[in-house]
Amino acid sequence: MNVELINTGSELMLGRVLNTHQQWLCRRLADLGYTVSRQTAVPDTGPDIQQAVREALAHADLIFTTGGLGPTSDDLTRELIAQLLGRNLREDPAIVQQIEQYFVSRRRAAPARTRVQALVPEGAIVLPNPNGTAPGLAIEVRPNPFREGGRPSWLIMLPGPPRELRPMFLDTVVPLLRRVLPLEKEFICHTLRTSGIGESVVQEKVGAPLESFIARGLELGYCARTGQVDVRFSACGSDAARLVQDAEAVARELLGPFIYGADDEELEAVVVRLLTERGKTLALAESCTGGCLAHRLTNVPGASAVLRAGVVAYSNEAKREFLGVRAESLDEHGAVSEPVASEMAEGVRRRTGADFALSVTGIAGPSGGTTEKPVGTVFIGLAKPTGTLVRKNFNPYDRETFKQVTSNQALELLRQSILAESRS
Ligand code: ATP
Repeated sequence: MNVELINTGSELMLGRVLNTHQQWLCRRLADLGYTVSRQTAVPDTGPDIQQAVREALAHADLIFTTGGLGPTSDDLTRELIAQLLGRNLREDPAIVQQIEQYFVSRRRAAPARTRVQALVPEGAIVLPNPNGTAPGLAIEVRPNPFREGGRPSWLIMLPGPPRELRPMFLDTVVPLLRRVLPLEKEFICHTLRTSGIGESVVQEKVGAPLESFIARGLELGYCARTGQVDVRFSACGSDAARLVQDAEAVARELLGPFIYGADDEELEAVVVRLLTERGKTLALAESCTGGCLAHRLTNVPGASAVLRAGVVAYSNEAKREFLGVRAESLDEHGAVSEPVASEMAEGVRRRTGADFALSVTGIAGPSGGTTEKPVGTVFIGLAKPTGTLVRKNFNPYDRETFKQVTSNQALELLRQSILAESRS
């Protein structure tokens, strides 16, 4: 099946907005077995959008457009596609009512322009938008005047804002695709997520043992992200489920404790889940990560059940005052040192009464490094019921990557310790 994606929006061409739809939709579609073969981003202008859609209709069975369904004058996708396909636009009273309801529930008057969002090209399926006012639209172009032999294509228009597009895709588009464009063969895809191990080591461990599965049709992919590596298993055909399951079992055996989760599960979500399951609590004392750990953990729904508090103690005074770090430790060893990491974790654990406490102190750079402690040096402390441990790591990256990698290492240290504590 030939699948194409067209992202519209002049803000994408100006570099004002990162095209996250490209990554998000390609990832979701690939995992469902609808791999995107071509992706285009075009400005909001009529000729650009129509030309991109016309070209896609000449090749693709399934085409997605994103953006341009809203009420403003640069939101033209609906009108331009209706014009290209020679279909009239009709106002849908049910959508008018939904839009009015949307504004009533927010105690605001509906601007007159919002009614354009109720215009539906003839024959289109309306995809409800519970998070906004512009519904999505799906059109079967049959016969398709732009394709050889008039072969049909499906054209699916999605709204621009990610918080509207993503639930619409998952709740409405996926069931629609399964109904109107089912895959010819069964497709199975699973991802194992690892942390604390490099991409080449992952490949060294699983590559050769999985060769026989690849010979039987398994597709194996590695994706390195900041501080983490995903291993993706996919296969199609009647034997797909067994093939993926058996290959995954071999990889699980070989990668063992490096695997922290599967599919879309993030490391912070795993940590929150493990703590919740055990009824344990956590506190944080962060210096160089500046609250990154607290940010990641509080992105997880249900974090309030486990996270007691997070302190960003950036200065030496704050480390002393809020965490009880001893002045002698700071003077003798410096703020970036094993004793200080240890006292930070113990201090915040004592103060909050949490079961586990993580601390981070390091040199993010670009300045502040010494020969003994170069930029990138970081100490991660973990105070827990059975004692305190500190790891020294070296993460010589830009400040943002440094925070991401260091917070991964801290979460991973905690995850391994929670598992070890429950085994003992
Ligand atoms: P609206 O009703 O908000 O106008 P729309 O369907 O017309 O919705 P656009 O106007 O094209 O969508 O985009 C609205 C916003 O959605 C953009 O300002 C941008 O913040 C976000 N957005 C659009 N396209 C993308 C994209 N490809 N990746 C990430 N964000 C996007």
